[in-house]
Amino acid sequence: MTFQDLNLNTPLYNALDDLGFTTPTPIQEESFSVVASGKDVVGIAQTGTGKTLAYMLPILRNLKFSKQDNPRVLVLVPTRELVVQVVSEIEKFSKYINNRVLGVYGGTNINTQKQAVAQGQDIIVATPGRLYDLAVSRVLQLKSIQKLVIDEVDVMLDLGFRHQLMNIFDILPQRRQNIMYSATMTKDVDDLITDFFTNPTKISIAVSGTPLENIKQERYNVPNFYTKVNLLEHLLHDKDVFSKVLIFVAYKKMADRLFDKLEALFPNESCVIHSNKTQNYRLRSIEQFREGENRLLVATDVMARGLDIEGVSHVINFDTPDYPENYMHRIGRTGRAEQEGHSILLSTEKEQEGLERIEHLMQMSITTLAIPEHVEISTELIEEERPQIRERNNPTKRRDEDAPGPAFHEKSEKNSKENLGGSYRREIAKKYKKPKTRGDKNYNRRNKK
Ligand code: AMP
Repeated sequence: MTFQDLNLNTPLYNALDDLGFTTPTPIQEESFSVVASGKDVVGIAQTGTGKTLAYMLPILRNLKFSKQDNPRVLVLVPTRELVVQVVSEIEKFSKYINNRVLGVYGGTNINTQKQAVAQGQDIIVATPGRLYDLAVSRVLQLKSIQKLVIDEVDVMLDLGFRHQLMNIFDILPQRRQNIMYSATMTKDVDDLITDFFTNPTKISIAVSGTPLENIKQERYNVPNFYTKVNLLEHLLHDKDVFSKVLIFVAYKKMADRLFDKLEALFPNESCVIHSNKTQNYRLRSIEQFREGENRLLVATDVMARGLDIEGVSHVINFDTPDYPENYMHRIGRTGRAEQEGHSILLSTEKEQEGLERIEHLMQMSITTLAIPEHVEISTELIEEERPQIRERNNPTKRRDEDAPGPAFHEKSEKNSKENLGGSYRREIAKKYKKPKTRGDKNYNRRNKK
């Protein structure tokens, strides 16, 4: 496929020609018609796969010339560096299009940005905090936004921007197209999609399903969290073999929970990174792990993205990722620089589907090992593993035939009592024969004599 196969226009073809781009990347090929259709879109693709052009090409193709001042496209990215990069990309593609693009981010003078906004813009690229400040100041009107792009959404959520995003969603027009790109699919990302997207089309550019040959992969079927901890304790006792171990978990709460357990089992040998930790804490954890001061590092998927640490002896997948791409990202942290690497995957009954997806992507099955005999199989369950009790009959929900008729009957004796208010106080007063409120000014006076 070439760009000629996409339904572009001359200004865009000319810009692409100038840049020397001839063939769309896989994410561009898959995104074009879906983004152009106006449907909500969720794309899973990493930086460097050409995703900026993947959403900008169809947007620019359909953005009509307009003199109106209020922007129609909003692109949110997690960092100011990305704002600058995305603006510069858009400017290159818009070389022959008459549109106005502005990047805004925090940490710089807001007044200069207000002036630029006031001049009228078509596309705004922003970090969430600064965008919200500008919107609240009323200089930036969001009522004409037709398309919202959230780029690197996993990083954004991991940096704690969820709340900011909620605030922005609140002030955006209800009728809009949501377009989102993320490198990994995490629980937070999934929750956001469920809450705010309307039946989105998902596009996933599969990470290569061919694992490095020098990574030895093994797995265990383990019934629950506590048994996973017992198994881990057994394995990690061999400090010579398990010399530098990166342990992946899906979310922050689990990271903290596991870290606490490991600290108790192997004091001063472990560290943890997830986004609720401060930047300094995270850097220190990584440094300690890198330098070998700590043998064990517990990490969430996003935080460990792109971590290039030498000599990781084992990657342990404490849980089984739902999305096989995440597994590929994880195991790629070991076996670097052609050293031998090991990966161990722990799966519960519930995680078997995830396991199947991983094996399907790799087109191979992972060697299954039996849990060693003396590892205790726990029956205790953590909160998330306990069965969720759902009441089928909602007693407060009326069926039609139960609907009340007109109120023609007398009230029952109980219900016809006059409401005197403050019944609790009256009860207490009866019992103790004195006011229980602190503010009774007359109490001391009355009781003086
Ligand atoms: P991105 O993933 O959007 O950060 O893009 C990565 C790099 O690839 C950027 O420098 C783009 O300019 C470049 N790029 C994007 N699409 C193409 C393409 N179809 N052909 C060649 N280079 C591209």
